[in-house]
Amino acid sequence: MEASISVRGLYKKYVDNYALNDLNLDVEPGKIFGVLGPNGSGKTTLLKIISALLERTSGSVSVRGLDPSKHKDQVKKLVGYVPEVPTMYESLSPGEFFSFVATVRNIEESLVEERINSMVRALGISDSIDSFIGSLSFGTRQKVAIIASLLHDPEIIVMDEGMNGLDPRSAKILKELMRSFAERGKTVIFSTHIMDVAESVCDTVAILYKGRIVSTGTMDKLKERSGKSSSNLEEIFLKLTGNEDLDPLIHSLKESFRS
Ligand code: ADP
Repeated sequence: MEASISVRGLYKKYVDNYALNDLNLDVEPGKIFGVLGPNGSGKTTLLKIISALLERTSGSVSVRGLDPSKHKDQVKKLVGYVPEVPTMYESLSPGEFFSFVATVRNIEESLVEERINSMVRALGISDSIDSFIGSLSFGTRQKVAIIASLLHDPEIIVMDEGMNGLDPRSAKILKELMRSFAERGKTVIFSTHIMDVAESVCDTVAILYKGRIVSTGTMDKLKERSGKSSSNLEEIFLKLTGNEDLDPLIHSLKESFRS
């Protein structure tokens, strides 16, 4: 199947530091793709370049055949991007913010109302719809950002740590929603450091470390490659990112708190 997102030899340099280092990636439509990696491994940088929000230094990126640095507006129409830390107009209510997004996105009014109502109900934020965004908890703001990013029914959903701060009920609903998007042939790519989330929801994962993909494939493929059929994603992740044997560290940490 032709990849929906294709990345070849991607580099991103910030001053004198390469955040992405010869990165290659293919994401198929109809799949949920998880990008895993420790802090600073390049997840946000990668997702922003794919979403036409950040310029690359070199390499090629194709999003449904479009180069995000040449076709910014078209790629932004295709993509629904949920940032790790949503910045929104603090003095608007979620209801006003959704109307604003719908106008900017030029979405048909009849569709907007139905989509907003169903997502607001599903994510349990009906009571906050008229409050100032600035007064909402982190989790509620995250839900507002998720709803806003999905209003235009994007072909490609990009979530940077989208499950952070969500209560278990909302995380489950979001997982179901992502699955239903994938079943409709859309592409879902999201970053997480929560192994349970990745393991339960992703069809394919890529493990990012220091700007490179150190392993990618289905969970079964990753387990096969790691040489331990019983490995879970957390073990594979720790092994590939150089932290396999944490036991001595944990032991000495516990000892240091023993009086
Ligand atoms: P992650 O999302 O995995 O935590 P990031 O993509 O945010 O990783 O960052 C990758 C690397 O790039 C880190 O070393 C980070 O410090 C660096 N970096 C990110 N954004 C900038 C920036 N605007 N200026 C300079 N360095 C940056």
